[in-house]
Amino acid sequence: MKKFFCVSGAAVLFWLLGGCSFEKTQQVQSVDTAMGTVVQQSIYTREADSGAARDILELTKSLEQEMLSRRLDSSQVYAVNAGAGKPEGTEVSEELAQILRTCIRIGEDSGGALDITLGPVVQLWDMDAWAAGERTGEFQPPGEEALTEALGLCGRDKMQLWEDSGESSQGNGGEAEDHVDASVGGRVILSAGACLDLGAVGKGVALDRILVYLEEHKEILGAVISLGGSILTYGEKPEGGGWRVAVMDPFDTSAYVGILTLDGGWCVSTSGDYQRFVEAEGVRYHHIYDPSSGYPAQSGVAGVTILSHSGLESDALSTACFILGVEAGLELAERYGAEALFVEKDGRVTMTAGMEQYWSPVGERIPE
Ligand code: AMP
Ligand code: MG
Repeated sequence: MKKFFCVSGAAVLFWLLGGCSFEKTQQVQSVDTAMGTVVQQSIYTREADSGAARDILELTKSLEQEMLSRRLDSSQVYAVNAGAGKPEGTEVSEELAQILRTCIRIGEDSGGALDITLGPVVQLWDMDAWAAGERTGEFQPPGEEALTEALGLCGRDKMQLWEDSGESSQGNGGEAEDHVDASVGGRVILSAGACLDLGAVGKGVALDRILVYLEEHKEILGAVISLGGSILTYGEKPEGGGWRVAVMDPFDTSAYVGILTLDGGWCVSTSGDYQRFVEAEGVRYHHIYDPSSGYPAQSGVAGVTILSHSGLESDALSTACFILGVEAGLELAERYGAEALFVEKDGRVTMTAGMEQYWSPVGERIPE
């Protein structure tokens, strides 16, 4: 059996650059962990003692602890899941309500490929624990009966999101309570046994929050922040030239298939079957599930990278496109104005026309 810690799908080449020699500009670099993944930061700032890297790490951790975690009992998602089966549901903040709305929309637009109610299936496979080596022993895929039971608890119809106006995005025509606290963005009602899992979008949501932080701190001139498979580019490098983000080779994670040269303001998210997986009897079981079967998706894609100005959309779309495969995935990405690059299991690389301007395959000279 073979196990891997989470391997991101893209890497930032800023580590090759060394310190910044430009007058009055400091380059702060850090490597930490948060959200179950490695956080790499490189920040160009005018302030000598910038606390930006520490602040960004803290805001990422608090997003996980206070809002997104399925496991920590301090989070809103935990409270929503704990309230499954209660007819009155659970109040959520406006920010979380907005995230859920976007996930529901992308879920519908992807024909159900992205499904944030897949918690029971995600829990059953427990792939994060296997891939991180927290679970040991002989890995066995879940039995048919257990999988059918878990799948029966998932699906769009197991979740209602009531707006603070008292309207349901479910559109079931029912009456919501007409009073909701003004600080509250809505109310989530889950069927008994249902469970939300925002693992597909958490890092992208963090990038959106980090972008707001960077924009509020005018002393920061440029930055590139990598949270596992999701990367944010911001501003400019003092020495000029674009930010270089390498797209990992799904068949050799010590190598990459090419490089994206990007301006500031992009979110780059990658989903791949090599990021979290376990192998048993020659079969690879990875962490992205097809909601129609409950099994790891087999769409012929080994890795897909999405470029978007929204972290949430880049992360949601990378997961959905991995499940949909090249043809339907390209269509979905284009519908959202995002760029997509697919590496298929046979090694073929396919991308949207708009992606080509940023892309240099390995072996080609990288533009300055
Ligand atoms: P990503 O690495 O961004 O593609 O997200 C994968 C994570 O999303 C998994 O670890 C699960 O927590 C969750 N997940 C897996 N399959 C799906 C799916 N079909 N829809 C939504 N979330 C999923
Ligand atoms: Mg994702």
